Amino acid sequence: IEDALNKLGIKAVNDGSSTGILHFSIGNDKDIHLIESYSPVNGKLIGKVKSSTKADYDKIITSATTAFKVWRDVPAPQRGEIVRQFGNKLRELKQPLGKLVSYEMGKSLQEGYGEVQEMIDICDFAVGLSRQLNGQVIPSERPGHIMREQWHPLGIVGIISAFNFPVAVWSWNTALAWICGDVCIWKPSEKAPLCGIACQNIIAEILKENNLPEGISCLVNGDYKVGEYLTTDDRIPLVSATGSTRMGRIVGKTVAERFGKSLLELGGNNAIIITPTADLKVVVPGAVFGAVGACGQRCTSTRRLIIHESVYNTVKDAIVGAYKQIKIGNPLDETNHVGPLIDTEAVNTYVKAIEKAKAEGGRILVEGGVLEGEGYESGCYVKPVIIEAENHFEIVQHETFAPILYIMKYTGELENAIALQNGVAQGLSSAIMTNDMKEAEKFLSYAGSDCGIANVNIGTSGAEIGGAFGGEKETGGGRESGSDAWKVYMRRQTNTINYSNELPLAQGIKFDL
Ligand code: NAD
Repeated sequence: IEDALNKLGIKAVNDGSSTGILHFSIGNDKDIHLIESYSPVNGKLIGKVKSSTKADYDKIITSATTAFKVWRDVPAPQRGEIVRQFGNKLRELKQPLGKLVSYEMGKSLQEGYGEVQEMIDICDFAVGLSRQLNGQVIPSERPGHIMREQWHPLGIVGIISAFNFPVAVWSWNTALAWICGDVCIWKPSEKAPLCGIACQNIIAEILKENNLPEGISCLVNGDYKVGEYLTTDDRIPLVSATGSTRMGRIVGKTVAERFGKSLLELGGNNAIIITPTADLKVVVPGAVFGAVGACGQRCTSTRRLIIHESVYNTVKDAIVGAYKQIKIGNPLDETNHVGPLIDTEAVNTYVKAIEKAKAEGGRILVEGGVLEGEGYESGCYVKPVIIEAENHFEIVQHETFAPILYIMKYTGELENAIALQNGVAQGLSSAIMTNDMKEAEKFLSYAGSDCGIANVNIGTSGAEIGGAFGGEKETGGGRESGSDAWKVYMRRQTNTINYSNELPLAQGIKFDL
């Protein structure tokens, strides 16, 4: 990991403390609070990062405000050129950055690289988009008039991100915000602060090479208190916050109180409906990867399988069988399927959820447990679990950010499965496995899935950057990434231009002087 950190320009500074532990700091005051970043892979301290103070924040917001005035003057396609260079740098640094993601967050190396690939993809998307921030021309009801719509940058975008996608979520926001002419201040998760520093180093170098102010991309570190600097600051017109529904409820309210805009990407409770015609070859890998990938710590992880009674036993046996093949261990070893949870607090949440499910009447089909011994010293490795449960169980209604899969039966028509799938408070991702065209279309119709993402014959987990990403209900309603998600990073202005010599009023109103 030292080699990866070096390549990412993360320099260790000896903080002189008696422990002799090195820390990675972007300031050198003595009176500082340090965030400790432990790797869930082996429990070792990777480093300590300085938490931003209010004084740091004030400096940063000043530099962002100044940078915005420079950046909005750069024509959008030239802003795209900067994002293109950033994407190319990420191509060069895909290996070390992917490795750091895997080491600091605990997802498999493949998924770590995949996350960096997502960053590269959104950069490519944003470069093309930088020539397509088009408004509309609208016919006017008045002679000699024309109406049009323009999109202008908003200013400073605040980004608050979760630990589980420690780099990609930032780039989904920044790549679009930058080409839109905004500048960004990012508060990464306090559970993955080094990933934040690595990303900042990469973009800072690109900005420097282009003689642009670093304030175009700013970083603050810390826990929710530092997040509150952003949410309460009316100099920040948009706060994009990714994390739990609990967090979104607070952030949404705080930002709304000052009439700011928020883009909320919150928790999911994602289900796959498996119908009688489903193809097992697709169902098994789709459901298993969805449930155990990133150790169940994706917002789109599969939490529930809703299986038709006629195929229930066959599907259940196939999935339980597949779980026996799962290898749990160091995520940097590519032969392992499942790495650790983020920390021991997450392990406790996992243990309690299983107990609760049992207490509510759940039947364990694949036994869970916390792994101990060689290779599992961090205490963060757990066994993926399958529990036969009912949708109305309180624990099933909640998102537990761990590899716990609830399976349940539906009888009769597809409508019954859809009612179960929609019968939770969250609305992020959903899927149907079917070879019946009518069922697939019904699932995708207004009477079908109520989620922001609805898939056919693929699982719930993961998404391509070309589509708008996000969900309804307690998932927060925000959309990021592809399609026209860029519009949230801009303000819309409607113009009416009179090129006649008269001043007719709209709606035929007469006002004679
Ligand atoms: P979390 O809510 O604990 O923290 C997320 C971020 O919010 C952190 O940076 C944290 O410091 C900050 N924060 C928390 N309270 C805040 C407050 N009151 N004011 C300002 N900032 C605050 O979430 P987590 O444990 O890091 O991530 C897991 C959660 O994120 C899951 O619920 C998952 O589904 C969700 N998630 C959603 C998406 C999505 O796109 N919908 C993507 C990734 C993760």
